[in-house]
Amino acid sequence: MEKIIIIKYGELTLKKKNKNFFLKTLKNNIEEALKGIDYQIYYDFGRMFIETSKLEKVIDILKNIFGIYEIIIGYKDEEREIAKIKDQVLYLIKDYEFSNFRVSTKRSDKTYPITSMEINKIVATAILKSRNNLKVQLNEPEFNVNIEIRKKEVLYYFDAIKGLGGYPVGTLGKGMLMLSGGIDSPVAGYMAIKRGVKIEAIYFESPPHTSDQAKNKVISLAKKLAVYNNTVKLHVINFTKIQEEILKNMPRDYLITIMRRMMYRISAIIASREKALAIFNGESIGQVASQTLASMKVINEAIKLPVIRPLACFDKTEIMEIARKIGTYDISILPYEDCCTIFVPPHPVINPRLDKTLEYEKLIPYEEYIYEAIKGHEVIKVGVEEENNYQDIL
Ligand code: ATP
Ligand code: MG
Repeated sequence: MEKIIIIKYGELTLKKKNKNFFLKTLKNNIEEALKGIDYQIYYDFGRMFIETSKLEKVIDILKNIFGIYEIIIGYKDEEREIAKIKDQVLYLIKDYEFSNFRVSTKRSDKTYPITSMEINKIVATAILKSRNNLKVQLNEPEFNVNIEIRKKEVLYYFDAIKGLGGYPVGTLGKGMLMLSGGIDSPVAGYMAIKRGVKIEAIYFESPPHTSDQAKNKVISLAKKLAVYNNTVKLHVINFTKIQEEILKNMPRDYLITIMRRMMYRISAIIASREKALAIFNGESIGQVASQTLASMKVINEAIKLPVIRPLACFDKTEIMEIARKIGTYDISILPYEDCCTIFVPPHPVINPRLDKTLEYEKLIPYEEYIYEAIKGHEVIKVGVEEENNYQDIL
């Protein structure tokens, strides 16, 4: 008997019209992630199948792919006689402990001479005879025995490993993630990817006020996201000139508002160039002065592109929990300053006015500075890290 991996899609089945596109994308994403491993993949509308000699390794990789709801290890056998099926089930379940169970048979091959109901009955009876104190339970059984009769073989499978869920990455377009070294933005990126959005990231640095270590931290975070996104194209923008000019010419309580409007403008330009349909960031209502609704409104008016804030209504503790789960937390809490923290004034305005903001912005030729900042900016293609390697670059 050969082992085979069965993948179930779950939520995908809701998207009837686009199903083929979704499945093809999921298959491509799996193929990208399994590069260099020997395997075979094929699918129908219900499931995807992978045959490989590297079972454990493949399953570990599949656990990080969005659009997969369940990963099941199944067994494939070419013997299709009912007596053989009975024996195989008894053999395969011998190490499982349970007190009630259900047998579910599916005939993909409708020409098979025995009906699914009859097979269920024959196999269930054999299981009941083989052990004491067992009963059949059709609703929420402790243990599921699944049998599938196919044209050339029989598939057996029992327990499922939970997949990540969500949609296959790339099925819902591209987004530009504003990625800082903080706790929030990597989590926002993860949530975007989970919804099927392929992300690129943009990071604003201000050398010499910010260090290479701060930048490497962002690269490490991008590597963590690359696990789900395959690779992350990271745009690094030199923000020094703009920040210094803002600092020199603007009233202190409007520094953050205007600085963030500049970040939005640049993000929107890079997003349009890269055909990203929205900007994503880690803003959360009320977390800091620039994240009051009044501030967000004035900042948002700098651009037309939609800004999606997956964490808008999350508590910090909830965000931290996800950050720990996806392995970004320990990187995020490293001390290196990002460009915002260095310029934060003691009392930023929490109710900025748009008319004042526009007036102040006229004091500097910011379009020129923006043009200079994005002209030939650095682009880094960040791939999935090797186990724990990120420490090397910090
Ligand atoms: P984070 O923990 O993600 O850094 P934060 O709570 O520190 O967020 P802010 O510094 O106000 O909040 O930033 C809000 C959002 O703006 C961030 O989540 C991120 O998406 C974006 N952002 C801030 N600084 C940068 C930067 N240097 N480069 C790119 N994006 C940034
Ligand atoms: Mg920050």
